[in-house]
Amino acid sequence: MLTFVWSIAVLAGFLALAYRNAPGWLWTGAIALALAIAWGAHLLAPPLVILPAVMLVVLAIPLNFPPLRRALVSDGVLGLFRKILPAMTSTEREAIEAGTVGWDGELFSGRPDWKKLLALPPPKLTVDEQHFLDHECEELCGMVSDWETTNIYKDLPPPVWQFIKDKGFLGMIIPKEYGGLGFSAFAHSQVVAKLASRCSAVVVTVMVPNSLGPGELLRHYGTEEQKRHYLPRLARGIEIPCFALTNPHAGSDAAAIPDLGIVCRGEYQGRPTLGLKLTWDKRYITLGPVATLLGLAFRAFDPDHLLGDKEDLGITCALIPTHHPGVNIGRRHMPLNAVFQNGPNSGKDVFIPLDWVIGGQPMIGKGWRMLMECLAAGRAISLPSLSTGMSKLIVRATGGYARVRSQFKTPIGKFEGIEEPLSRMGGYLYSMDATHKLIAGMVDLGEKPAVLSAIAKYHLTDRGRRIAIDAMDIAGGKGICMGPSNFVGAAYMQVPVSITVEGANILTRSLIIFGQGAIRCHPYVLKEMAAANESDARTASIAFDRALFGHIGFLLSNFTRAFVLGMLGSHPVRVPDVAPEVRRYYQQLTRFSAALAFLADVSMGVLGGALKRKEKLSARLGDVLSYLFLCSATLKRFEDEGRQTADAPLMHWAIWDAMFRAQTAFEGVISNFPNRLIATLMRRTVFPLGRPYVVPSDKLGHEVARLLIEPSATRDRLTGGMYLSRADGDAIRTIESAVEATLAAEPIEARLREAQKTGRFSVKPGDDRAAAAQAANIITADELAIVRKATRLVDQVIRVDDFAQDLGISEMRPPASMASSEGAVARKAAA
Ligand SMILES: Cc1cc2nc3c(=O)[nH]c(=O)nc-3n(C[C@H](O)[C@H](O)[C@H](O)COP(=O)(O)OP(=O)(O)OC[C@H]3O[C@@H](n4cnc5c(N)ncnc54)[C@H](O)[C@@H]3O)c2cc1C
Repeated sequence: MLTFVWSIAVLAGFLALAYRNAPGWLWTGAIALALAIAWGAHLLAPPLVILPAVMLVVLAIPLNFPPLRRALVSDGVLGLFRKILPAMTSTEREAIEAGTVGWDGELFSGRPDWKKLLALPPPKLTVDEQHFLDHECEELCGMVSDWETTNIYKDLPPPVWQFIKDKGFLGMIIPKEYGGLGFSAFAHSQVVAKLASRCSAVVVTVMVPNSLGPGELLRHYGTEEQKRHYLPRLARGIEIPCFALTNPHAGSDAAAIPDLGIVCRGEYQGRPTLGLKLTWDKRYITLGPVATLLGLAFRAFDPDHLLGDKEDLGITCALIPTHHPGVNIGRRHMPLNAVFQNGPNSGKDVFIPLDWVIGGQPMIGKGWRMLMECLAAGRAISLPSLSTGMSKLIVRATGGYARVRSQFKTPIGKFEGIEEPLSRMGGYLYSMDATHKLIAGMVDLGEKPAVLSAIAKYHLTDRGRRIAIDAMDIAGGKGICMGPSNFVGAAYMQVPVSITVEGANILTRSLIIFGQGAIRCHPYVLKEMAAANESDARTASIAFDRALFGHIGFLLSNFTRAFVLGMLGSHPVRVPDVAPEVRRYYQQLTRFSAALAFLADVSMGVLGGALKRKEKLSARLGDVLSYLFLCSATLKRFEDEGRQTADAPLMHWAIWDAMFRAQTAFEGVISNFPNRLIATLMRRTVFPLGRPYVVPSDKLGHEVARLLIEPSATRDRLTGGMYLSRADGDAIRTIESAVEATLAAEPIEARLREAQKTGRFSVKPGDDRAAAAQAANIITADELAIVRKATRLVDQVIRVDDFAQDLGISEMRPPASMASSEGAVARKAAA
């Protein structure tokens, strides 16, 4: 009996030590104590104590002395590690090392410190920023519509272009000292989201100069002279920038661009000048056709050694005025009927002076590093905010439409079949808004969130697409027939653009999120790699030893934590002071964090460099990390907004959905893991009692759907920050008015039906029932007006646009005064 108690105590003690990731000396002491008790109390046969005691002296004790440990273990492992470590190119290294690690590191740690997340201050707008949103941004939204830009102007109308330039929209990220608006990342993201809820051409036009491109690169790397010359011109829209990286032969693999710059002597403005002879062929370049300033990425070579010994200098970024001789620019692509300016450009043997390189001669060859370092901030803001803003428009309009469109004498939004996509739209939007605000706030706190921005880009664009698809299904024919009253067709068509740009989504999910996350966010992997690449033997040995033993403890701890928390339903996890209804989520997410850390380590350990090619496994591990981040943002939003009880169904739906998806991703890794024995160990560790999560319940979905189809403070918070036109005839305004009118008319209609049923008045087929009811004094004249108004507005909402037989092409031409080509005008002015 005593032996049994001792065994249980030893097991519990060891689990506790592993769970807490106890240091080696504590393990050694605990093992010694356990053996001493067993010896003193005669609990085990002497050999069963002596043998472990010998091992303790020979193995465990030396492991507590780093010099001995290095000689016995670490140095050997380091040699092996160096042999199997896949070679990393400098472009891969620069991509991996770029940016900062913050909350993603916590999620990867197996024990996220939730207090840190909750302590992040919610981002706020300054008075000026709020004023800009309420006035300039509001006014700009009122000046444009998707239908007109797409079908009449095929561009933004010239007055809109002028407004954008005059009001500083193109210089939101340019500091005030250079004439820009100097907005915070949060303000920038709010502007993008608001414009996205109105018009795709306007949002992309504003978004691109404020993302990765000449402005951002100049801010960080430009010479003072370049900054003084270009930044004020960019801020005021005197220059329209574009940034050209993509070549027909290098899309996702952008580091492989074949565009060339040969260092040579030439002539510029009549003087002999050291420069670069450029040959390039770019496509898909946003704002390219109207740009006056071309940011160009190319690979620089110095075959005549005019700059030094090296021939292949590497990727380089330069700024070229588009009126410079030899620059071919101006033709357009038509990206899914979207009319933001986008097109190819090229040049052959175009000579430019060396000081057109961003940052001047010292920055030749540093282009890739510059791009990678600047990528995170833009990626965290642009497309996540665009997708969120666009989704707000779609969710609000679709919810309203589902309330006023009736079939089978019932608003379609009340059918269970429609509730399902509606609840998905609501739950997704709640977490999208939470995520885009959280990440913008992180950027404002000085982070360059490399991994989290990839997650936000992938998941928010993907959810935006899902929302557009759901909305199309709900809208039926109304979404299909294009025209000014179609509130979803254009977004549905153009949503693949967000999926493809700034890192195409499949690549981002399969290669970047986990590929970069596992190395950057892991507390030890990057340290091990750095040690392996260290040339000084002693420094390498010491650093590798520390990282290796830290890593072993980390793995053991996460293995134990994942198992123990799985067995105990994650109840032992301590949770900070949060709303009682979300406490369990924090515990469950901590459990998943430990399981992710464990699975990631085992996958990297077993598959090594081959994991890079196992993209499906890598994608699923990245999915788990992503869902943990989306849940973190969702929970933080709930706290930051004062635990709004009325919004709780949206939050619960978003968490249940993400947790279920995370569980499915775990299952996908385990079921497909190449080594079946290890897969069994993984399953027993991560899901020792089976898989606990299920899809959000139908009851919860019903509550979410109800929140979308009726006006409420929750619906306003969910779609807060979007543009709501006050203009009569505007499609969204009409839906809003129709919803209000329908709700006002419904009790009257109910009375009217009841009166008709009980025979208080009767109507013949074709009669006006409401008028008959009023004549019979069932309803008043005012009530008749309410019913009439609802009928008229609903009729307006459900109608679709129609055109002359030539599809109105003759009516769609812009007035001659508006039709001047912006590009031609701008380039002429700049020249
Ligand atoms: C409208 C629009 C605007 C753009 N604006 C600009 C701009 O302003 N400046 C600029 O330089 N570029 C711009 N681009 C280019 C954009 O960044 C590229 O389209 C993008 O990098 C993808 O390249 P690709 O289209 O050639 O696709 P590909 O690289 O051919 O990719 C095709 C598919 O293969 C997948 N894939 C590729 N590699 C992998 C992998 N290793 N694992 C898994 N899947 C993989 C991709 O995810 C994608 O789904 C724009 C593109 C569009 C369409």
